[in-house]
Amino acid sequence: MQEVLTGRKTIALVAHDNCKADLVEWAEYNRDALAPHHLIATGTTGNILEHELGLLVERLQSGPLGGDMQIGARISEGAVDGMVFFWDPLEAQPHDPDVKALLRIAVVWNIPVACNRASADFMISSPLMSASYDRRIPNHSDHVNRLQLAG
Ligand code: PGA
Repeated sequence: MQEVLTGRKTIALVAHDNCKADLVEWAEYNRDALAPHHLIATGTTGNILEHELGLLVERLQSGPLGGDMQIGARISEGAVDGMVFFWDPLEAQPHDPDVKALLRIAVVWNIPVACNRASADFMISSPLMSASYDRRIPNHSDHVNRLQLAG
């Protein structure tokens, strides 16, 4: 299955506390590239970005309070086209299982994910950001059928 994404995409932005300054700096530098898109973010990240960028950001719950899972749910509904997620590689998080689940579900649904500045730079400067793109949606029907047969 494929989904044709238009030029205006929904981009999820998340940063752990030690990485928030890095994400804000990146987002400020790329403000014009981000502006045409629908931005969603976990609570605290979204607050800071909205304040610093002056762009509208749809804010979900704070990550440790369920925000990561909300973004994961949106991904599985097909409502997120890409994610910039600066997770902290040097500090354990109280919601580590949610972090892992979010990264996992992004791979399950073939969402582009950037987890550091360099990959975020590559993602935001891709011509595909402003073009339509046929994102291949993995066919998970084998998995679903197997579960149904087993049940
Ligand atoms: P926050 O959540 O933006 O609410 O800090 C980020 C996270 O820890 O996932």
